[in-house]
Amino acid sequence: MMALWGWIWIIPILERLFPLKGQKFIRPGMINDLIHTYHRVHLWSFLNAILIAWLAAYAQENGGQGPFGRGALIDAHWSITALCVMLFGHVSFYVAHYACHKIPLLWQFHKVHHSSLKLDSFSTSRFHIFDKTLFAAPYLMLVTYFQPDPGIVFLFVSLNDFWGRYGHGNIKDPHWIGYFLSNPKFHRWHHSNHPEAIDKNFSAEFNFLDWIFGTAYYPKGKIPADFGFEGYSNNIIIQHYQPFIDCYNIFKNDGWMALLRKPKKTETDGFEIVHD
Ligand SMILES: [Zn+2]
Ligand SMILES: [Zn+2]
Repeated sequence: MMALWGWIWIIPILERLFPLKGQKFIRPGMINDLIHTYHRVHLWSFLNAILIAWLAAYAQENGGQGPFGRGALIDAHWSITALCVMLFGHVSFYVAHYACHKIPLLWQFHKVHHSSLKLDSFSTSRFHIFDKTLFAAPYLMLVTYFQPDPGIVFLFVSLNDFWGRYGHGNIKDPHWIGYFLSNPKFHRWHHSNHPEAIDKNFSAEFNFLDWIFGTAYYPKGKIPADFGFEGYSNNIIIQHYQPFIDCYNIFKNDGWMALLRKPKKTETDGFEIVHD
């Protein structure tokens, strides 16, 4: 209930009190992002927390322990369980997110999340449902396989939701936080169109995987100013069918391999090509 009616409205108050960047409260696409938050399939955290906790409970009762570590967390101490649940979340999110940026087919769906021209906590919910499913699926499998305590899983998903909203918020906080956590400044670079920050900062909460794998970009003393895709629709219905059209166009123009790997950079990158 906090995810749906609590911090979703509390964090905008923080955004007014401690803004990272002055911006209007009402911005284009805001109503769309609220519909994203409250439409049935997307009652994301609430439904997910229940679904994942139920899956873990069901697996504990009906699966039990087995070979290859199956059910290994059933009897584990809560601190080990909490650490594992967090690691499952981090690793699966980082890998799925990395793939979404590197594989053009997945990027067309993830692009919806990146389409907003202005960033605030309401932008958190803007996701294509396929994209969200791709992020959730590996986590669901890990949790069902290792069968941790459903209560701890529930807590993690709630924390994940809170931090997601905070990390997208237009909130000023101390710079050092971004060395440990994906705070607003850190995640803003992920959404930015600045060339040096493209495909950087994939983490959701703690950002140690970005630092370990060299995908962190967190300069001191500046924040990005350029986000999203000019002309991308702010209509949730169009946002759900547009990726299919974009994939079809890539397939039609460049073949199916172009959906699986990014084109190599050429010296025309950064310039517009004019046919005359
Ligand atoms: Zn992304
Ligand atoms: Zn984001």
